[in-house]
Amino acid sequence: KNITIAIDGFSSTGKSTVAKQVANHLGYVYVDSGAMYRAVTLYAMQNNFIDENHFDIEGLVSSLPEVNISFTFNKDLGFAEVYLNGKNVEKLIRTMEVSSFVSQVATIPEVRYQLVKQQQLLGKDVGVVMDGRDIGTVVFPYAELKIFMTASAEVRAERRFQELINRGDKVKYVDVLHNVQERDYIDSHRKDSPLVKAEDAIEIDNSNLTLDQQLEKVLQLVAM
Ligand code: C5P
Repeated sequence: KNITIAIDGFSSTGKSTVAKQVANHLGYVYVDSGAMYRAVTLYAMQNNFIDENHFDIEGLVSSLPEVNISFTFNKDLGFAEVYLNGKNVEKLIRTMEVSSFVSQVATIPEVRYQLVKQQQLLGKDVGVVMDGRDIGTVVFPYAELKIFMTASAEVRAERRFQELINRGDKVKYVDVLHNVQERDYIDSHRKDSPLVKAEDAIEIDNSNLTLDQQLEKVLQLVAM
């Protein structure tokens, strides 16, 4: 029987890496819910609703009907890439600039309402692994398996830093660390669906686990 697997946790805990592996292993659909918040943020940046000096929440909210987010599976990559109004934005949404605004955009209730609705449809009647901040609490409160991933802030910033360096971005470690800490703060303090561990979620601290060990742990939980 296909089940729903919710993986939540703080920024850069390696949720998406494990989620992708689990989904591929089980032949499930993988949905990166953070990519959807990032795509809305990119839209807000491209349409001048947000920059360092201003944030036009009302303007963005009234434009939400024009924001169309979709996923298309990429065979070579082995996962679905995110599209904003028909354009592949998988690379564009991973910049530090998007990261620096995304948690503010994610505080807007209308944005969350629209994305949560879409996420629930994406996971309807299929085996799904979805990662994010509110998947086990809000999107799929009845998920059969909920995992809450943790790792120390330094381990997380180091991973994120390596990821950005590997794709050729010029970033400083301290800035990455600061961004990770800032997003965690905003995510866990916002009024609407703050990041909290679901009561029935199983916590996995992966600071000292290899990817194989993490995959094995999750697959064991699926089998239980
Ligand atoms: O997962 P990722 O780090 O790409 O998510 C980017 C941001 O999107 C998070 O820092 C958070 O502010 C927001 N987010 C959210 N709810 C989710 C997924 C992501 O608020 N389910």
